Amino acid sequence: MTTATLTSKGQLTVPKEIREFLKIDTGDTIEFVTDPITNSVTISKKGKLCPTCNGSTILESHNLPCFVCDASGYINLDNGIIPYIMMGIPNRKYKINKTITNQKTDANNSLQFNIMPKIELFSQGYSRELLDSIQDDLQIMIIEEFTPRTVSSDDFFMIPTDAILIEILDLLTTKKAKDKVTSWFRTERSSFNKN
Ligand SMILES: [Zn+2]
Repeated sequence: MTTATLTSKGQLTVPKEIREFLKIDTGDTIEFVTDPITNSVTISKKGKLCPTCNGSTILESHNLPCFVCDASGYINLDNGIIPYIMMGIPNRKYKINKTITNQKTDANNSLQFNIMPKIELFSQGYSRELLDSIQDDLQIMIIEEFTPRTVSSDDFFMIPTDAILIEILDLLTTKKAKDKVTSWFRTERSSFNKN
């Protein structure tokens, strides 16, 4: 048995052993289910809120079920984002094709490794605009997981160089996503520069 004490604001820290047991992490949603008969509450993991439908389970622009979370509103990244994309997006049901590539051809037609895996979505049932936006949602999760800390591990401070940042931004399609990732790394850089 493990215990935790409620603060005056009604907040509770989930003990480490419980976090590890439920495999919950920052940003995960926890579900509380009450049982009046036993006067107890069960907590369980609901995963991360789906970045595409924001938990609404619907792709509003098409008024169709969200295929990223299979209309559940949550995504479960226990094994990481790549296995989730490979296994978790029910492509047949929603007639979505996806590719994850690690390599690209350069100007001389020789194969080069991508800085991190690149996802592309294809479908005839959804507009390219919507697919680009969803593809970027997923690519941002890949970038978060493969954050260039791992590719520039020689760099003690592990902040991407401009050249690496350009390669990362190349994986994204929409300006909105590029701006988001740029500002995310700029924030890291400026907080580093202040120190
Ligand atoms: Zn969704």
